Amino acid sequence: MNSTLVSECLQVNAAGHLTIGGCDTVELARKYGTPLYVMDESSIRTALRDYKRSIDENYENGGMVAYASKACCFQELYRIVMQEGCGADVVSGGELYTAMRVGFPAERLYFHGNNKSEAELRMALEYGVGRIVVDNLTELAQLSKISQEMGKTAAIFLRITPGIDAHTHSFVRTGQIDSKFGITLENGDAMKAVRRALETPGVELKGLHCHIGSQIFDEEPFIHAAETMLNFMTQIRDETGIVLTQLNLGGGFGIRYTEDDHPKAYGEYMKLVSGALHKRAKALHMPVPYLIIEPGRSVVASAGITLYTVGAVKDIPGIRTYVSIDGGMPDNPRYALYQAAYTAVVANKAAQPADRIYTISGRCCESGDLIQEHTPLQECEHGDILAVLATGAYNYSMSSNYNRLPRPAIVMVRDGQARIVVKAETYEDLNRNDL
Ligand SMILES: *Cc1c(COP(=O)(O)O)cnc(C)c1O
Repeated sequence: MNSTLVSECLQVNAAGHLTIGGCDTVELARKYGTPLYVMDESSIRTALRDYKRSIDENYENGGMVAYASKACCFQELYRIVMQEGCGADVVSGGELYTAMRVGFPAERLYFHGNNKSEAELRMALEYGVGRIVVDNLTELAQLSKISQEMGKTAAIFLRITPGIDAHTHSFVRTGQIDSKFGITLENGDAMKAVRRALETPGVELKGLHCHIGSQIFDEEPFIHAAETMLNFMTQIRDETGIVLTQLNLGGGFGIRYTEDDHPKAYGEYMKLVSGALHKRAKALHMPVPYLIIEPGRSVVASAGITLYTVGAVKDIPGIRTYVSIDGGMPDNPRYALYQAAYTAVVANKAAQPADRIYTISGRCCESGDLIQEHTPLQECEHGDILAVLATGAYNYSMSSNYNRLPRPAIVMVRDGQARIVVKAETYEDLNRNDL
């Protein structure tokens, strides 16, 4: 792999063009138009398989990989996840509905969210979602009422905030008490919530959940979270006599956006976490929990790129050179939101040195509509095809119609073949609901 291309599925062909999954990106841009999302199917399947294998090999009581849909959600992706024998995490009625549209096995779904609506809770119970991950006591009461009305018992996890701040790398415990998600462990709220759940009719507490953050490169925060949760499960056993046997550790595994990112192989995290968890379980005379992980970004980010056509190139001497593209914050808001780092390549000149510095600007009426500032690129000219790499996660799923721009199509590539999996929106689509 050419390391500046950051993802395994990307190469440069004899014509000097960037390829993804064996397809020439310049031809994809010509055939399908730009902007265009492109995703490599093999990369997605490989990531899911690696995670699945790491669980099958490392956990004596098994577990499940539940793809976090919010990273990227469309029907064909659910089909792929389903075919790989994985589950999924959904956070809204919309994601749940999309999964059900392709016949996703509801029992493999985990329903998250800190403020699920009554309609969504009903929908989850009607479909028979595997686990509703209850975020707070208000939701617990609401769910109890709804499930009793419906004559059902909701299988639940409680979302716990274990007090681990993965981003500072220093386990600043108080940092995470201030979170809109979950029930705090530190101050005893979590134990109270467990007791409440155990005596609440219409729900059955099956296990616990935590999710400590995203784009994490170290295994230590995951190990720390796993141990903290197992300690809490032991405390629950000791104080209530109930042995919970399922633990969902969420997602958050880091990926390579630029040459400076060095994520571990996914299996490595699991091996290290598993080692620590098995050891702790034996010491505490607890069963090793059935383990669920919820990778989102690390399943799809590296599989995706976005292709654009270069319009104007504007040099402001002594300041910077802007390259304007035919997309921007509506298809990728991550730089505008939090200065996310990306690698970009001029796809039709990918074999040439990236020896110029540009600021990539979108086409919206908003000065902050940038994709990357002061980034190295091959010399840009009007009509070039620009590829932004590792855009498979939190791009399409965060996209908008700002400036009344239709969302681009998603093309899935595999072994040199391309197919549209999500059609581009049309102007008519944009007007569909207007009265
Ligand atoms: C966002 C989220 C994930 C996925 O996180 P990634 O960083 O994309 O892997 C998993 N579980 C929950 C509950 C989440 O909110």
